[in-house]
Amino acid sequence: MGKALIIGAGGVGQVVAHKCVQNPDVFEEILIASRTKSKCDQLKKELDGGKTKVHTAKVDADKTEEVIDLINSFKPDIVINVALPYQDLTIMDACLATKTDYVDTANYEPPDIPKFEYKWQWAYKEKFEKAGITALLGSGFDPGVTGVFTAYAQKHYFDEIHYIDILDANAGDHGYPFATNFNPEINIREITAPGSYWEKGKWIETKPLEIKRTYNFPEIGDMDIYLLHHEEIESLAKNIKNVKRIRFWMTFSKKYLTHLQVLQNVGMTSIEPIEFEGKLIQPLQFLKAVLPDPASLGPRTKGKTNIGCIFQGIKDGKERQYYVYNVCNHQECYKEVGAQAVSYTAGVPAMIGAMMVLTGKWKKPGVFNVEEFDPDPFMAALNKNGLPWQESFSPEILD
Ligand code: NDP
Repeated sequence: MGKALIIGAGGVGQVVAHKCVQNPDVFEEILIASRTKSKCDQLKKELDGGKTKVHTAKVDADKTEEVIDLINSFKPDIVINVALPYQDLTIMDACLATKTDYVDTANYEPPDIPKFEYKWQWAYKEKFEKAGITALLGSGFDPGVTGVFTAYAQKHYFDEIHYIDILDANAGDHGYPFATNFNPEINIREITAPGSYWEKGKWIETKPLEIKRTYNFPEIGDMDIYLLHHEEIESLAKNIKNVKRIRFWMTFSKKYLTHLQVLQNVGMTSIEPIEFEGKLIQPLQFLKAVLPDPASLGPRTKGKTNIGCIFQGIKDGKERQYYVYNVCNHQECYKEVGAQAVSYTAGVPAMIGAMMVLTGKWKKPGVFNVEEFDPDPFMAALNKNGLPWQESFSPEILD
């Protein structure tokens, strides 16, 4: 059916490539391109031999011209951006210049400001409309599947959704004293930033990790969860009518938080450049270089993740509660695609998002978040592609 250019060959890129190859009728050819070409070549070795033709290339996606040249030579139907959030705009510019559809999993973040917001990418809406191409933003798990779950709840179970709690639990253990499950720089920037949630039409800001609860997760058990700012809150607040409150929660172990506290206290999580031996370095980038590569955690990580959404609202005049979630097993993911569940749960929906656009189910000109499309084909594809979901109509509710 089509050709996809995958930019980024880290944990998530690896899963996307494997999953495209598992769907050769949709992805007839893929080009895996990244800054370090050897990672793409390694992936190609693992993937060759199936129906999908696999190519590799080196690209610096900070440079729009390089991405344009690559698109012009490969002529993909869609670009799947699983590099870092810093490359979103340069890649979107290249898609505009070449009239190519676009999918990503994380919203743009300026490298020098620890703030992620959709405003930069939403500003492309008219340009994409005029060019007649689709940009699908945030098609990972969270953001991504959490938005699809919301659209599904809205379509099938509620007249009005009033409260949304998004719960992201990782009960995996990689055996290291401290490591992050995805890109350390992005992960630490997210956690050390102030928290926030949406209530009655405005943002309520909290100190970093100020609000804590304990939740009994299906198939995992009790875990401490902390309220964080997360990007899908912004798009859901815009797209879900009459919603009163949206919160995002993530689990962290005591051990993880103690290490993070120490690193913060000594200045290692700062993004302010400092001079070291005559060179300017950013402490957080240096920390990334000394921490284990998230891709190396795959073979070591045991346990499960559970990510889902709890909705409260009204149907036919009556109050209703609904919880929909996916449980993913780190070791099973590793066996299947050579990556742990955090990369798996982001990579599978990125492939499905591209599949939705390529097959025409989610194809319309403009810039969209996932909850703006019909959730049913995406929900069906989750069940078929390794992320089956479960539901409950009497979940434990967070106060
Ligand atoms: P990794 O750091 O493992 O991989 C990033 C990849 O992008 C690497 O291959 C890296 O190349 C490449 N890259 C970085 N800069 C450039 C550049 N300028 N040009 C070309 N390639 C570049 O990150 P992950 O795979 O863990 O995450 C990928 C994306 O997925 C991130 O945006 C992350 O925020 C997002 N994500 C989304 C989730 C969701 O649920 N929505 C969950 C997890 C992640 P090199 O090897 O040279 O460093």
